[in-house]
Amino acid sequence: MKKIPLAIPHMSGKEMAYIEQAFAENWIAPVGPNVDLFEEKVCDYTGAGFATATSSGTAAIHLALQLLGVTQGDTVFCPSFTFAASANPIHYQGAEAVFIDSEMETWNMSPIALERALIDAKQKAQLPKAIIVVHIYGQPAKMTEIMALAKAYQVPIVEDAAESLGSLYEGVQTGTIGDIGIYSFNGNKIITTSGGGMLVSANKAWTQEAKFLSEQAKELSPYYQHEKIGYNYRLSNVSAGIGCGQMEVLQERIAQKRLIFEHYVEGFTRYIETFSNFPRITCQREIEGTFSNRWLSTIHIEGVHPLLLKEALDANGIEGRLLWKPLHLQPVFRKNRFFAEDVDAPISNAQHLFEGGLCLPSATQMTPKEQLYVIQTVAKFLIQAGESK
Ligand SMILES: *Cc1c(COP(=O)(O)O)cnc(C)c1O
Repeated sequence: MKKIPLAIPHMSGKEMAYIEQAFAENWIAPVGPNVDLFEEKVCDYTGAGFATATSSGTAAIHLALQLLGVTQGDTVFCPSFTFAASANPIHYQGAEAVFIDSEMETWNMSPIALERALIDAKQKAQLPKAIIVVHIYGQPAKMTEIMALAKAYQVPIVEDAAESLGSLYEGVQTGTIGDIGIYSFNGNKIITTSGGGMLVSANKAWTQEAKFLSEQAKELSPYYQHEKIGYNYRLSNVSAGIGCGQMEVLQERIAQKRLIFEHYVEGFTRYIETFSNFPRITCQREIEGTFSNRWLSTIHIEGVHPLLLKEALDANGIEGRLLWKPLHLQPVFRKNRFFAEDVDAPISNAQHLFEGGLCLPSATQMTPKEQLYVIQTVAKFLIQAGESK
């Protein structure tokens, strides 16, 4: 039996034409017409002013921090409940990540915890050089509150929209709300270039500087002249060709992802209404004014450890994955500071999410029959767990 995967690349069929063009014209380099076209397509879709395609989303975050002057001795605020790639570039720069708790509606950066961290930083005369906001699993964060705080304390915002391409906050595309946005086109994201990323901004000087740094910081000169440390972070023209083909189906993928999420909700609701001791399941809320691309459908369950559910799914050929383990609980970040939303709570919201949450198969190739099987397998396990209490 083939395994039902969490999320896998889903080609449109248009990608090969772009790649063949690249081969025909011998544009097999990190420059070429596909790179320009891909940047143009992402700008057109998101409304971003300018863009620089990069070899990964992580590289784009790293460049964003460079543009904002993050350096040794600085701090950068970052949610704890995210993938390590959100925070690692802070440490590439020799700066320190300060982790911020989640709120329980969207699971993203808590404005309450953020404000407490900013007050503390101001008192210590060490305001962060930047705030990285993540739209986790595709659900936009509470940007109105976060942007107001950023403005009040005059700290720039980097939006890590790696998971949320196509998601909207009050009609505006995530990635284009803060000062700099980044997208990822890694293999498991909503669209992929097999590996790649993009930095976007309304500030053309920044995207140009990002491009310059991503191409080894070669100064305009008849010989190799370098005045800054550069990187090899540019996206290849072949990969960008995949991106061009993928952009044509982004809208369709979002509709498919949202339908998958709705089917889970409908499926579980039926069980909750039928079985009185069915464990409580909650999902990430699409709060008013937001539109999620529902990159991954996730659930949070009370009273049953998600690892047990994951094992039950594995045994039935279904891939599930625990939610992000909070970064402030990771050994590598054990010395970093963390600001909880509720300082009196026994555990942070981020930890509470981790200890109860699971990502369910969300691949857009999943058939309705396969999804029904996933729902039934989850429900069967939860009914047994509920009865054994
Ligand atoms: C995937 C991801 C990244 C990193 O993107 P890559 O293209 O894999 O380098 C960064 N942040 C978040 C939240 C991600 O999910």
